[in-house]
Amino acid sequence: MESSAVRRELRAWPGIIEAYRPYLPVEHGATVVTLGEGGTPLRFAARLSARVGASVFLKLEGMNPTGSFKDRGMALAVTNAKARGSRAVICASTGNTSAAAAAYAGIAGLDAIVVVPRDGVARGKLAQALLYGAKVVAIAGGFDDALRAVRQLASDFGLALVNSVNPDRLEGQKTAAFEIVDQLGDAPTLQVMPVGNAGNITAYWRGYREARDRAAATRLPRLVGVQAEGAAPIVRGSVVEHPTTLASAIRIGKPASWEGALAATRDSGGTMLAVSDAEILEAYRLLAQEESVFCEPASAAAVAGLLRLAVAPSETVVCILTGHGLKDPDTALQAVDGPVPASADPQSIARMAGLS
Ligand SMILES: *Cc1c(COP(=O)(O)O)cnc(C)c1O
Repeated sequence: MESSAVRRELRAWPGIIEAYRPYLPVEHGATVVTLGEGGTPLRFAARLSARVGASVFLKLEGMNPTGSFKDRGMALAVTNAKARGSRAVICASTGNTSAAAAAYAGIAGLDAIVVVPRDGVARGKLAQALLYGAKVVAIAGGFDDALRAVRQLASDFGLALVNSVNPDRLEGQKTAAFEIVDQLGDAPTLQVMPVGNAGNITAYWRGYREARDRAAATRLPRLVGVQAEGAAPIVRGSVVEHPTTLASAIRIGKPASWEGALAATRDSGGTMLAVSDAEILEAYRLLAQEESVFCEPASAAAVAGLLRLAVAPSETVVCILTGHGLKDPDTALQAVDGPVPASADPQSIARMAGLS
């Protein structure tokens, strides 16, 4: 008895499908496709809490197997695509969806085709998709053009479309809300997160409502979505033809889940706001230097948004840090001064390091 209990304790994290199977639409008889996604840390951020004047926690979604929250939805989307007999998956991507699609298709033995904008995909993400073995097609156009094209290709060639317009993606992504409820013991009172194609905020809202309906949580959070000023269609109320922001993961002018995001912010009593690239960079450096969290610029937009809000001391706030900073080393190196040069002798190093 005792040894089997110990084995259970030691059992590896099984990924989101085994962890939350009763709440997910898994195809009958499917073989679960997982890379061990989910189970990410929810870290208390002491300095950020002091700055904001409330309890602030960071959900570190960059700790997922391919370095972003996209793994949660991709696990379920690829599991079900394979169970339904698909041989290949296709997606449009600003980068992270392509990395996740390539990795999950690879482990499942399916082909992956990913269509990315020729310009502006962070280098780490492109490297991942290529190394995992996807067919990567770079187009002369933006994300919204890529999404339009893959919708048609999926239907013409009978491929499984694994963008967040695929309902399985949002179902998988809602597990992040379940985890936060499990980790905090209840839902937060306020959640702040970046918004691009708006699937993730739609998924979180569903997850929190389901957690409350089955009495895992006693309350619902206000959801605040954060867009970049140059790519803020939902805040403006109209499509942005040529979205611009250094936060490439949220450089989207025509979000597929626009309605879902509006419902999430309205029904939760939250809001959608836009922050400048300067504010994003400031939050990006602040997270690294005060909290030792290296996230993507798009993720830092959540904290830039939080710094704009008036928050009561009694609030429990969660910021969703959607992706890992190593995805985008070029932006990181532009955000700081470079290394200081010195000759190899100790005196020179001491002088340049500020020791003498
Ligand atoms: C995809 C992504 C987002 C935006 O999520 P949506 O569901 O498209 O709103 C934000 N940050 C990162 C790092 C992402 O990869």
